Amino acid sequence: MSDLFAGAQIIMDRLLQAGYQAYMVGGCVRDYLLNRDIGDIDIATSALPEVVCSLFAKTIPVGMEHGTVIVRVQHISYEVTTFRKEGTYVDRRHPSSVEYIDSLFEDLSRRDFTINAMAMDAAGNLHDPFGGSQHLKDKKIKTVGDAEKRFMEDPLRIMRALRFWAVLGFTLEEETEKACKRLADELKEIAVERLAAEFIKLLRGIEASSCLRFMFETGVVSSLPELNRFRSSSERLYALDWACLESDEERWAALLFLLGEEDPAVFLKAWKQSNALIRSVLQLIRYLDKEELRPHDLYELGELQAVSCQRVRNAVKGRIVDEDLDSVQKRFQKLPIHQRKELAVNGKDIVSLDESEKGPWIQEMLQRIEHGVVEGKVLNEKRAIMEWVRSWKGK
Ligand code: ATP
Ligand code: MG
Repeated sequence: MSDLFAGAQIIMDRLLQAGYQAYMVGGCVRDYLLNRDIGDIDIATSALPEVVCSLFAKTIPVGMEHGTVIVRVQHISYEVTTFRKEGTYVDRRHPSSVEYIDSLFEDLSRRDFTINAMAMDAAGNLHDPFGGSQHLKDKKIKTVGDAEKRFMEDPLRIMRALRFWAVLGFTLEEETEKACKRLADELKEIAVERLAAEFIKLLRGIEASSCLRFMFETGVVSSLPELNRFRSSSERLYALDWACLESDEERWAALLFLLGEEDPAVFLKAWKQSNALIRSVLQLIRYLDKEELRPHDLYELGELQAVSCQRVRNAVKGRIVDEDLDSVQKRFQKLPIHQRKELAVNGKDIVSLDESEKGPWIQEMLQRIEHGVVEGKVLNEKRAIMEWVRSWKGK
């Protein structure tokens, strides 16, 4: 943490020496005041992007068109963005133009919520023109300026308001809440990738349950991909202890299971999730409804995924969060084999039993043997397995 601030200090000092303004802004100031972990530090400056590039040894011009340069100091990345105000939003996704300005105040006024519109200078002074620190104390999420106008400019802010509610456990200020409900339809115009990034963060929040309830009860979900098919939801969704889940895969699995989604793959594709995540979520869901995890289930899942699966099972069944997690892990470790290559026989051994041609039957037989070994029907020894196979082949 101190390394993080030390690097930011170096960057701000350099900019100040060169005659420019520089401040830490946005989420890092909010999280610092809340005593929360700080992920990264964003810096706003009056220096133009080209100037920022010229002042530091290691820079990555990630978003020069938006005024953003990454500056690397002691192996840490800082986003350094030139003060800007955004022009009109042509397509509701991207501002049509970016205008650089000379004032911190205007840069802060383009930001979404008062708690995200504070800055801290190199001497540690807080710049808080919209009352963000008071709203942190009141635990309120309030837009900078008129809520309807700000949500119309960029409707993603509706989703962000809900996300900050879920993550920080704050409530929405009255006008902000009204505008969220009134303008929820506008979320339909937002790119799925942007929605997904916020929705996933929302599900990680301590107040994910109350946020989901709000989204279903006020109809916000009708503007969201696939969720729009679920007009109402079950109390089980709101009763879930989301905070006990440890990965996004576990969260999606719990959500889709409790919604009773019949085609989780289609749902997750619509949310533009990666194939790896989709595979993992589908696998978790497959085992959620089972009475118990059999040895072969544990084998199929693998150690980490088996523990994950047990965690989601506990959550969706309202059981104690870590019930049986250790025992699942121990049971996995005690399995006679943990992967196919530990099997005492291989494809060649199987072919030697039979005159017939090579073919998919070898794989099928290996799978059957694997299953038998894992379930303790036969010892993982070559002779025992061969005998066992002969017995069910009638030889
Ligand atoms: P996190 O800790 O989750 O990253 P954050 O507040 O840093 O939270 P970011 O999405 O990283 O959120 O955005 C950084 C800052 O940029 C915000 O604090 C806010 O000031 C501003 N910002 C981000 N998105 C918007 C938006 N859609 N409209 C207005 N301002 C925004
Ligand atoms: Mg951030």
